[in-house]
Amino acid sequence: MSELDAFRHEIRSWLEENCPAEMRRPVTSESDACWGGRNYTFQSEAQRQWMERCAARGFTVPMWPTEYGGAGLSAEQAKVLREEMARINARSPLSSFGIWMLGPALLHFGTHEQKLHYLQPIARGEIRWCQGYSEPGSGSDLVSLQTFGEDRGDHWVVNGQKIWTSYADKADWIFCLVRTDKANKYQGISFLLFDMASEGVTTRPIRLISGASPFCETFFDNVKVPKDQIVGEVNRGWDVAKYLLGHEREMISATGGGERATSLGAELTRQGIELDPVLRAQVALYDVDALAFAAMSEKFSDEARSGRAHPAQPNMMKYAGTELNKRKHELTMMAGGTAALEWESEASGGGARSRGWLRTKANSIEGGTSEIMLNVIAKRILDLPGA
Ligand SMILES: Cc1cc2nc3c(=O)[nH]c(=O)nc-3n(C[C@H](O)[C@H](O)[C@H](O)COP(=O)(O)OP(=O)(O)OC[C@H]3O[C@@H](n4cnc5c(N)ncnc54)[C@H](O)[C@@H]3O)c2cc1C
Repeated sequence: MSELDAFRHEIRSWLEENCPAEMRRPVTSESDACWGGRNYTFQSEAQRQWMERCAARGFTVPMWPTEYGGAGLSAEQAKVLREEMARINARSPLSSFGIWMLGPALLHFGTHEQKLHYLQPIARGEIRWCQGYSEPGSGSDLVSLQTFGEDRGDHWVVNGQKIWTSYADKADWIFCLVRTDKANKYQGISFLLFDMASEGVTTRPIRLISGASPFCETFFDNVKVPKDQIVGEVNRGWDVAKYLLGHEREMISATGGGERATSLGAELTRQGIELDPVLRAQVALYDVDALAFAAMSEKFSDEARSGRAHPAQPNMMKYAGTELNKRKHELTMMAGGTAALEWESEASGGGARSRGWLRTKANSIEGGTSEIMLNVIAKRILDLPGA
């Protein structure tokens, strides 16, 4: 037996023993996932057990070094773990901006002390993070951001406003882009970390068309941030911000199904929905594109892990994955007919289908819009003239 086969065998038995039956089904909505954090209430004992058992083995962040809360797995071993979890439909134990976004940035730009301080609580699901990038006048043109951090010797005093801050009202800490030099556009931004319980931080939820309020306006009024809570150098936060955005875009692209395509045609048949020939052809086309996306995801993630990836690949993934997810939900609505428009009835699960469909409209906006992704692809991958 090869070393990797032995590892697979070990993982299979560990999962068999440790993954509760209730955690062997897909997450059905954002609120069905486990987000962790200081004030998090587990939705079931099974959810708590699964998160804690995975955290104890380093499986919430399998490839992070063990000293930072990971399992120190190689790329091949991590792939085996993903495959074995997928085999029994095990859900991800922890959904976390700390894992998907801040962690990779800290591993790349953080000091050893910062890694020791921040990464373990992320891996154990103890601290929930939110992202303070966008401002009312700065979305696609993020570099124009105005939130200002005034240097007061051993700390900054931060004033300004962020917007669309996902889960700001539930997060414990924020990673935040702050202007620390008004004279320099790109080289005048710093990447700061601070506690959302700090004096001067307030949040106000914003409602989406799906009826949910997953994000907020976030206000900073003379918030004191100690100097050691900066990632990277003063005024060089733009480098950290861009690096993190690559990971964010990869994360959002997973809405397209990731490395494992499931057939929409088969799913609709399971639900007893009969498709007319025109719709059946569209669903078949979608299924083929979903398979192609899964193959692209696997190729890109192998390339990323072996250091051979083109830096603009996350933009391709984000564009393709989110447009695919929007298409899937459009088809699901068409297949469901008028019944799919139900908004509140018990039979419709509180309008799960229509609310899910409306939520996908934001996929091609959050983390950078599809138009911006196409601009980057034109410029950095296709090298088109004038782009
Ligand atoms: C569900 C959701 C969650 C989010 N969560 C967060 C979060 O947690 N933290 C955070 O900081 N932000 C968050 N955002 C904000 C998100 O990053 C911004 O909405 C996004 O970057 C677009 O910025 P904007 O909304 O200001 O739109 P704008 O930049 O004003 O764009 C408006 C329109 O103009 C187009 N456009 C703009 N510039 C160009 C160009 N150069 N070329 C072609 N077209 C262009 C855009 O594509 C878009 O269609 C979230 C957004 C959503 C929808």
